[in-house]
Amino acid sequence: MIVWDMDLRRTMYEWEQIQFDEMVSCLGQVQLEEDANRLQWKWEKKGVFTVKTMYDQLRLRELTLEVSTSRFPCQIVWKKPLPLKIKLFFWTVILGRTQTVDNLITKGKIVFPICSMCKVSNETIPHLFLHYSKSLELWAYLIGHNSSLYANIFTADTVMEWLLAWPAGQSQPFSELLWKLLPYAIIWIIWKHRNEGIFKDKEINLRGMANEVKGVLWY
Ligand SMILES: [Zn+2]
Repeated sequence: MIVWDMDLRRTMYEWEQIQFDEMVSCLGQVQLEEDANRLQWKWEKKGVFTVKTMYDQLRLRELTLEVSTSRFPCQIVWKKPLPLKIKLFFWTVILGRTQTVDNLITKGKIVFPICSMCKVSNETIPHLFLHYSKSLELWAYLIGHNSSLYANIFTADTVMEWLLAWPAGQSQPFSELLWKLLPYAIIWIIWKHRNEGIFKDKEINLRGMANEVKGVLWY
């Protein structure tokens, strides 16, 4: 059993910790012989490092990654009739990269993890856009408290899930197109208000926000 004694110059970020753990578990599989040990490049027959084999391996990894990113649900972002700025925003939301507090922390920023709006939960993307109490009120106001659709928001774990499950065609008070874009407008307005910090503690003016949502419906 080999124990690797590794000193790090600084504490790791969360995402580095994952890679570090992977590396340590790889190293754990290394078996040293009694004889002299030597380094070997596993991608080349003679065990000698070459740039070409490294390039091939990186390329292979990239291809595998492309396969996984191709699962990105284009239909709920790129194929919607939305302004590019909004599409880009939703792209980050779906990829889970919106600059919410949880993501800032992952990147190593020192920020208070609690949602600045409700102060009861950590700020995550689904919390902010779906499950934060004021956000829920806004969704309920616009899609109806008693609708089965509203009931579904509680079981949606991600914004992607919620958008994918958004039902087509709904009659008044929204036209079909507006109905399709409604969840995007709601999420966008929540983000805008969150950034302006005007939800804070105060009673949110639901009707005002709902009007903003309608106003921003891009058509
Ligand atoms: Zn909150």
